[in-house]
Amino acid sequence: MFSVITTGPEQTWHIGQMLGARLAAGDTVCLYGDLGAGKTSLSYGIALGLDVKEQYITSPTFTLVNEYQGRVPFYHMDLYRLNDPGELESIGFDEYIDSDGVTVIEWAERAGDELPAECFSIYISTVDENSREIGFLVEGERYEQLLMDLQAELKKDKIL
Ligand code: ADP
Ligand code: MG
Repeated sequence: MFSVITTGPEQTWHIGQMLGARLAAGDTVCLYGDLGAGKTSLSYGIALGLDVKEQYITSPTFTLVNEYQGRVPFYHMDLYRLNDPGELESIGFDEYIDSDGVTVIEWAERAGDELPAECFSIYISTVDENSREIGFLVEGERYEQLLMDLQAELKKDKIL
């Protein structure tokens, strides 16, 4: 796991945007962190990186998933209100994961065993009012390469 600290929401958007610009159809990003950590902020950045035109990316709290059109389709899930992983079938969870889009999942832990084997996982925690620690943990060749590229870009940008 490697992590960076952002000192304001703009920096978190920026990291999301960097990642979003590199994501391709079929990728899944799993987000972990308490309420207010910055999962939706990071998702907003990812949407920017995917060239989603909508200005407001809000957590799809009641519908569990919002769909946006970008360079590729962007599926934004928030599983906060999911009671049981079994409910995922009714929203077509597997179809989203196996689709031609990018799926970002807030509260990914609520999906339990339904999560795909390989995920680009991001853990966000609050350091203080404006600082967040953003940790990355990936599995699988594709995501390892993606993380290395992101790390290199963060270094170049002097965020790391
Ligand atoms: P979550 O989706 O995890 O519940 P949100 O992204 O909706 O969190 O909210 C994060 C809140 O924290 C926002 O109000 C945002 O402005 C604030 N914030 C302060 N500093 C940061 C930071 N470094 N990164 C992300 N959000 C931050
Ligand atoms: Mg949220």
